[in-house]
Amino acid sequence: MIQKNARQRLIERLKARGIRNPNVLEAIYQTPRHQFIDDALYTHAYADHALPIGYGQTISQPYIVALMTESLLASATLHSVLEIGTGCGYQTSVLAQLVDHVYSVERIQPLLDRATDRLTNIMHFNNIQFKYSDGTWGWPENAPYDGILVTAAPEQIPDALLDQLAIGGCMIIPVGPQRGHQELLKIIRTRTRFEQHTIENVNFVPLRDGIS
Ligand code: SAH
Repeated sequence: MIQKNARQRLIERLKARGIRNPNVLEAIYQTPRHQFIDDALYTHAYADHALPIGYGQTISQPYIVALMTESLLASATLHSVLEIGTGCGYQTSVLAQLVDHVYSVERIQPLLDRATDRLTNIMHFNNIQFKYSDGTWGWPENAPYDGILVTAAPEQIPDALLDQLAIGGCMIIPVGPQRGHQELLKIIRTRTRFEQHTIENVNFVPLRDGIS
């Protein structure tokens, strides 16, 4: 009950910050964020900020998860979505409630193992596939994707991700230096080009090369 009240307050805050899509708000309401973090952080689970998940990484702020998901859903019909940066799997689980299939790539094995167990065995999602890999290269075997969502910031958009985006598809990606000016971008692929829009300034952990 306490959690339901806390989640309802979180939804009110997201609405106040401009999140409108009722499906996105409902998915966040339904997602038990406390199950994605360490017990010691329990009291912060529904506060609207990022929290540590180990290995120098963070669970994204709910507002950013909502904003990225809403932006992704606004422009395309999404059957398959590629997510780069599984982390604890919170964004993955919100996405998996809203699209047919999620392919999620993570470069830190223990984070991936924990997220896979949580989402598959505990929460019983059957529409998510995971891969231990450097997401800079995407996941070519299942391409093209209607949507690509990147939860760590490269300095430039990786070419492989542009190549794996379907025509008519949409990519949401933070771009910029670590601790420098980063922008959340929306890239739409048309038949002839990639259209780029800036959503807002953000602060993400870096997209790193290689696996760990
Ligand atoms: N949405 C996640 C955010 C985690 S932080 C959550 O809410 O938990 C970003 C994640 O991107 C980290 O787990 C980090 O290890 C991962 N990451 C960074 N560079 C990567 C790369 N090249 N390939 C795959 N994952 C990467």
